[in-house]
Amino acid sequence: MGQTGGFLKYDREPNPGQTPEERIQHWNEFHDRLPDAERRCQGARCMECGVPYCQSGMVLNGMVSGCPLHNLIPEWNDLVYTGNFDLAMRRLHKTNNFPEFTGRVCPALCEAACTCGLNGQPVTIRENELGIIEDAFRDGLVQPRVPGHRTGKRVAVVGSGPAGLACADQLNQRGHSVTVFERDDRPGGLLMYGIPNMKLEKQIVDRRIQLMTAEGVTFVTNTNVGKDKKAAELLREFDAVVLCCGAKHPRDLQVANRDAHGVYFAVDFLSANTKSLLDSNFADHKYVDPKGKRVVIVGGGDTGNDCVGTCIRHGCKSVVQLEMMPKAPETRAENNPWPEWPRVCKTDYGQEEAISVFGADPRMYQTTVTELVTDKNKKLTAVKIVSLGADRKPVPGSEQTLDCDLLIIAAGFLGCQAYVPDAFGVAQTPRTVVQTEAGHYATNVPRVFTAGDMHRGQSLVVWAIAEGRGAAREVDAFLMGYTNL
Ligand SMILES: Cc1cc2nc3c(=O)[nH]c(=O)nc-3n(C[C@H](O)[C@H](O)[C@H](O)COP(=O)(O)OP(=O)(O)OC[C@H]3O[C@@H](n4cnc5c(N)ncnc54)[C@H](O)[C@@H]3O)c2cc1C
Ligand code: SF4
Repeated sequence: MGQTGGFLKYDREPNPGQTPEERIQHWNEFHDRLPDAERRCQGARCMECGVPYCQSGMVLNGMVSGCPLHNLIPEWNDLVYTGNFDLAMRRLHKTNNFPEFTGRVCPALCEAACTCGLNGQPVTIRENELGIIEDAFRDGLVQPRVPGHRTGKRVAVVGSGPAGLACADQLNQRGHSVTVFERDDRPGGLLMYGIPNMKLEKQIVDRRIQLMTAEGVTFVTNTNVGKDKKAAELLREFDAVVLCCGAKHPRDLQVANRDAHGVYFAVDFLSANTKSLLDSNFADHKYVDPKGKRVVIVGGGDTGNDCVGTCIRHGCKSVVQLEMMPKAPETRAENNPWPEWPRVCKTDYGQEEAISVFGADPRMYQTTVTELVTDKNKKLTAVKIVSLGADRKPVPGSEQTLDCDLLIIAAGFLGCQAYVPDAFGVAQTPRTVVQTEAGHYATNVPRVFTAGDMHRGQSLVVWAIAEGRGAAREVDAFLMGYTNL
């Protein structure tokens, strides 16, 4: 249970990071990890509470708090404290296929529910998780686990994001032969082409893909299922198919002059940026260059923040992030007590960087775009915006015009792209995600399953992994008549 009174003896010590001025000079991750001795002190702070909300993954007041994977957090925190890193890694892998991803990009729903956070600072759960897995890789403890027995069953997984990867990993370890189809040139889904390199370096994704390949999973890239590869072929060649294609259908702006030159969707902007970085360190110029541009980003959320960080690294002239909602309070409101997910204002890395470069937070709250302004060649020159009242209606007389040469739409996603469900004849919900019975992954089409954002709607890496594992359990039970996953 950590060290008795550990949370009184040791303060929370986050991983050391570079200043905004340092990190905007490059595209790499900007946090170091604590040395082992200090990491052990952070593990010592966990008291293995009688009711460890950190691993509950419960819905409280409409939001999930605690880990959706039900990671065995108090157990591996104790193993960190006692320096038993090998066993910690094995207990961590029991519930989480990819702690190196969640340890970097998860918003740490666990820490919001940590009892230490009730009166003080929560345990550094996410960083302990990252420390366990990265030290395990460093020390050669993560080795390919090739299944000793093959069942003879064949499964196709469509989409190689965290849901598809988790599903493939589980089914492969069970002994089924798994092929993952991916339409992009590199596997990883939004882990590869979405989340920027400074949040998750791409060799970390490659390392896991190589491991899974060594364990027997086959990856087929540059293959668009439903177009290059027909649904009927897949159903003929495999015993089961799992659709994990994400929720890439973006919410658009319904404004005058939407067809102006200089308007991009956030994921297209971010993925072209990462591809050019990986392919040529930007020498191929196959990306949208924000250098010297006045950038406006529609959407004050995490994706918008990733666009802010990307534009700053390229040397944009200015950046503004428009948010429709009011600014959240700095601390929990009375009606949002622990252990609920805290609805508080978060200033993320990109926003910190904008503050450091331009001297002000880039976010404008309760604001929306009403019109795009162009020159005679249809080139974007400005956006007209208006403030929104508490009723979310435009406030008369609040109109403004912002000079703008690059507009990035990061206004969320509407669901999955229809052509894949259509190709398989799979039913969708009115939210345009694939329909299943609640808590299940089988679609209306026999032998076809689904998981991840395509099933749940746009969400988080940790949920995608949880969904991939859930779908694997259901596929295994379907193939074998029972499951031990
Ligand atoms: C910019 C951005 C930043 C984010 N940052 C975070 C973060 O920091 N932390 C966090 O927890 N979550 C983050 N998210 C959300 C998270 O990335 C997603 O919830 C998660 O990746 C969903 O996983 P998935 O496997 O369901 O789908 P995806 O990761 O979207 O993967 C789907 C894959 O399917 C492939 N595919 C689609 N159709 C086909 C087809 N017909 N044939 C073959 N392949 C196909 C796609 O090319 C893609 O590779 C972010 C999302 C975005 C957009
Ligand atoms: S996966 Fe996320 S919520 Fe779960 S323990 Fe790790 S950081 Fe916490």
